[in-house]
Amino acid sequence: MSDYDFELERVAREARGRGARALLIQAPDGLKQHLAEFYGRLEAMGFSPIISADPCYGGCDLAEGEAQSVGADMIIHIGHHRFSERGEGVPTLYVPAAHIADLRELAAKAAGIMAGKGFRAVGLVANTQHLPYIGEFAKGLEAAGVRAVVDGRTGGLVLGCRTAAATAIEGEVDALLFIGGGDFHALGVANAVEKEVYAADPYRGEVKDMAPVKRRELAKRWWAIMEAMRAKTFGVVVVTKSGQLDAVGAKSLKARLEGKGRRVFMIAAREASWERLSGFAFADAIVVTGCPRVAPDNQASFPKPVLNMQECEELLKRL
Ligand code: SF4
Repeated sequence: MSDYDFELERVAREARGRGARALLIQAPDGLKQHLAEFYGRLEAMGFSPIISADPCYGGCDLAEGEAQSVGADMIIHIGHHRFSERGEGVPTLYVPAAHIADLRELAAKAAGIMAGKGFRAVGLVANTQHLPYIGEFAKGLEAAGVRAVVDGRTGGLVLGCRTAAATAIEGEVDALLFIGGGDFHALGVANAVEKEVYAADPYRGEVKDMAPVKRRELAKRWWAIMEAMRAKTFGVVVVTKSGQLDAVGAKSLKARLEGKGRRVFMIAAREASWERLSGFAFADAIVVTGCPRVAPDNQASFPKPVLNMQECEELLKRL
């Protein structure tokens, strides 16, 4: 049994309802290893599944071209919610893949820590896999005498680039508690708010203060901006993923960098990794449009500064 709920019955019902047989399954790398049983059960039900091996970091990245190439009738997009309001080119079903776990102990531990710090109201946010546990954590907080606050519009869901669930309630709370694994989402929340942010990690059973991580990250980003000030030649990467494409924004950055006397090369890429971009060694600095988290997350593998659009705006103010 997988540790994630791939909602087999719903997938089969929706696919049959749309007359789909050939299904392209897209999932983040971390979930691909859990797909064997899901794949086998779909096959046993008469479907023809095919799993995309490409990386998939969000609902912003739908494999529409790939689905058309392999003749898929439908995309089963696992691990994310719908990202864009624009319609999909290929019928797509989003399966959040909730993590199946007993988090009562972690919820009680987190609540104890929040109460121990003297917080009277704590905002709850979670990533897609752990959104169903917000109620459990709210119960834990209330039991510890701490008021739990959840944004009604988003239900508490945060993505790496969307933190409205945290910013909308920041004024009502003393701190925020994120439920989910790793630093990626928790750091996005910490960067978006002034209040203290803690992360309850269901995989490690730990509650982490995000302040030191945020401090280190900010220092590294300001280093990248300062280094980019010395760059004479820039590569501006237009990321071609469906939900990330911002050709207009990229052209605007190009024009304004050129206005400051910089030489700019426009580059199109699906993946803005150094592995893909090493051929552009003539650029002294790289600006990645699209996902704002690619630049900070990939900086360590780049031998030169790599900025996102917001950081490029900061750079332009200083040139
Ligand atoms: S743009 Fe980046 S952070 Fe936002 S959903 Fe896509 S991959 Fe995640």
